[in-house]
Amino acid sequence: MIRVARPTPELSPEEAYGLQVLIDLARLIPPESPEVRTGPELVLREAPSPEAGPRSLQLLVEPEVVVEPGRVVLPRALLSGVAAIAGAQEEQTTEARDPHGRVPPDANPLVRAGLASAPILSRAARSLREAAARAAAGDPFWTVCPWPEGRRWAATLTHDLDLVCWWPLSTLARMTELAKRSQGARLARVLGSAVASTFRRPVKDAVSRILKIESGHGMRSTWFSLCESPSPRTFLARDVTYRPESALNRAILTEIRARGHEVSLHGSFATVESPERMRRQRERLGAILGEEVAGVRQHFLRMRPGVTQLGMIRAGFRYDATFGFPDRAGFRLGTGDVLPGWSARSRSVLPLEEVPLIWMDRSSSKYAGQEEPLAWVEEAASSARECRDSEGLWVGVWHPYLSDPLGFPDAPRAFEELASTLRADRPWTVPLVEVVEWRAVRRGLRVAEVDEAGVPRVTVPGGEAVPVDLESPAGDTIRVRGAPAGVHE
Ligand SMILES: [Zn+2]
Repeated sequence: MIRVARPTPELSPEEAYGLQVLIDLARLIPPESPEVRTGPELVLREAPSPEAGPRSLQLLVEPEVVVEPGRVVLPRALLSGVAAIAGAQEEQTTEARDPHGRVPPDANPLVRAGLASAPILSRAARSLREAAARAAAGDPFWTVCPWPEGRRWAATLTHDLDLVCWWPLSTLARMTELAKRSQGARLARVLGSAVASTFRRPVKDAVSRILKIESGHGMRSTWFSLCESPSPRTFLARDVTYRPESALNRAILTEIRARGHEVSLHGSFATVESPERMRRQRERLGAILGEEVAGVRQHFLRMRPGVTQLGMIRAGFRYDATFGFPDRAGFRLGTGDVLPGWSARSRSVLPLEEVPLIWMDRSSSKYAGQEEPLAWVEEAASSARECRDSEGLWVGVWHPYLSDPLGFPDAPRAFEELASTLRADRPWTVPLVEVVEWRAVRRGLRVAEVDEAGVPRVTVPGGEAVPVDLESPAGDTIRVRGAPAGVHE
């Protein structure tokens, strides 16, 4: 619980966004209206000399939160600092591009400052939550539990379906890469395995194996499928390489859905600049699946930050899972958690959830020449520990083509290791569409009143009542019924 004292001058759109993000990540519940006077008061302190850039990054690392009886005092400059990182403001305005047409990692201020490998926004939010608990000093004080089912963090495995047929061509390309890196032993194993798979469907087999491992651990994942007609041009660019309506692709998607996993769109290169293409691909995939498609991740993580997202909104997507670094594990938006999207151009919150990508299987193989799959998994595990410790969401990509005949011996065993390592720390493991749904409920919780026993009555956004778990600083947990706002019983 927290009430925000009205600041003068009024908050700028960026400050309001930063405050919303901070309160949400801190799991604090604001009142439904100013008349509900419950929880400590959050007061903003004007900085003596507002400085841009480095000062606001420093503030994110050490937020300088001050606790007074019944009040928490925050430096006002913290809010625009949070907005700059969560909203990827600099990435939305830079003209810099890498050879794939992407915004290069060092256009991100966290990368330049060496702060991209920790979820610094989640840590700042934790300082705020702990300060608010101290400021409450004996008054009723409840925060919302981070995830459903008593889980303290969430982890979702995702899979980009870049390749379905024509796999021997991909094997050849990979063999060339291995030869250049003098990986003779691996090369020989790949060749043997590829020859043995000549008349098989190794991608479909790999998908089935991944699904089986995930089911064994009680995990459900999200699969991103390309949905555009391939042409020689898209083929050569390693963009679209399979026909979405082919029998093989349909069989793969059917198996994924039959096991309760999510299928969303892998936006092809053409969607980066074309909202119309984005809309058509979403509709085409929806027609194949016979259901609405909730999310999207751009192929090769190609996007124009802030612009491609507008196309996603116009196409009807609920969330975007593209914000991750192509060349390293880390926190491109400063957190492993769901954030409301932000437009630097219109200075407004977007009706699109951002689900940052934290780790990708091939980053260290492609960019640092690390060819040992178990080393990739160690990197995944270390980024997952950061998410666990900040009670956030870890999202990783494992490409289903990482199998022996496609050039990656030892990778399937490494995937088993990854799945069991994640599960050992008991995350909530559901598809991203369900993660996003819960986070929208959690972010929209409001305190309507507090009864004599000190238990809050909470409201939720949307039209349906939802059970919500609250916890106190002492570690007590209660389950309350979150009723739709405006409905009084
Ligand atoms: Zn891809």
